[in-house]
Amino acid sequence: MTELRCSNRACGRKLALHERALACPRCGELLEIGLVRVEGEPEQVKRLWLERKLSNDPRDRSGVWRFREFLPGGYELEETITLAEGNVPLIAGNKSAAWAGVRDLWFKHLGWNPTGCFKDLGMTVGITEAKHVGAKAVGCASTGNTAASLAAYAARAGMECRVYLPAGQVSHNKLAQALDFGARVVQIAGSFDDALDTLLRNSDGELYFLNSINPFRIEGQKTAMIEMLEQFGWRVPDYLVCPGGNLGNSSAFGKAFEELQQFGFIEKAPRMVIVQAAGANPLARMWRENGQVLRPVERPETVATAIRIGNPRSWKKALHALQFTNGMAIDVTDEEIGEAKEIIGRDGIGCEPASATTLAGIRKLVRAGQMEPDARIAAVLTGHALKDTDYIIKRFQKRTESGSQTERSSSAVEMHAH
Ligand SMILES: [Zn+2]
Repeated sequence: MTELRCSNRACGRKLALHERALACPRCGELLEIGLVRVEGEPEQVKRLWLERKLSNDPRDRSGVWRFREFLPGGYELEETITLAEGNVPLIAGNKSAAWAGVRDLWFKHLGWNPTGCFKDLGMTVGITEAKHVGAKAVGCASTGNTAASLAAYAARAGMECRVYLPAGQVSHNKLAQALDFGARVVQIAGSFDDALDTLLRNSDGELYFLNSINPFRIEGQKTAMIEMLEQFGWRVPDYLVCPGGNLGNSSAFGKAFEELQQFGFIEKAPRMVIVQAAGANPLARMWRENGQVLRPVERPETVATAIRIGNPRSWKKALHALQFTNGMAIDVTDEEIGEAKEIIGRDGIGCEPASATTLAGIRKLVRAGQMEPDARIAAVLTGHALKDTDYIIKRFQKRTESGSQTERSSSAVEMHAH
């Protein structure tokens, strides 16, 4: 059983679960869904989740709705909009582990979702909620991935879709997806943060917002961690490493661990590590400086366009997740991201640049003595390799032009050793 409430625990204002509000009417903070009760004992519920894998009910076929004991409810089967999202594997990163100097590394590849990104996990719940409250049109601001995902689910639900993108800063692959799914694309001069401001300013009240501040999306994204722990046989890894952009995903993961622990599904949460790009690092900077308030990065710049965000809206929730899990926030350079991405490719896995912050971050922490080489580490890859093909081609061309291609050794790991 769930409720809609203010995320500011000192305020604690409660709203009706399906009320259309994006912020607390009393204090203005973000809203969240509260999990009040879980029906059944943990072992019983865990068994039920496994049994559902044998069912043909579309909700059981979804790697999100299969875990509906932890999701907002009240939806009819017909209004549940699903593309059988979730159900993505946990894969050992062998070469990646050697490169980073660790022994037990696993990738949870959320980029292997229907539109190639973790956003689908949240969007199935967000669009279902939009349909439930009678929305006819949905909208978001996006660095590309949210737009592609929203466009797909809106098309599935028969809703009009409007996406606001920072002009010239979105990968062609993502833009193409949004167009392919029939979205109306509005290009905004400026950054993602400008696009979001424009969207919020120009809202006519008819548009249902599906940015990451939408609490229903956070709920769907939570299930990635439930599915992952199920795949680990409920043996909790020592670390959970994820990229940090707008910090909605980090918030969702932290919330999943907190609820699983609260209701007796796990005894202890993994330590969360949020990795940002050095050019868009407001959380990592705040963490390093022991700050209490996030100072936005004015002009965020990084090759990892999916996390090129200077003013992450969900930073307070992400900070709470770090505190709850005894975690940390760090940043890595674009070059480190590029090297890590190549190694993930050599493992036959592949990902978009933002996802590679995870592996780059692990290597950095191991080298600094802040992560044990024999720890069990789970790293979340958020986007598919095909999400940004321009980046791959350009990096390859650059190397070919610089001539290092000819003297390149057979191992990419050696290639980058000094
Ligand atoms: Zn409040």
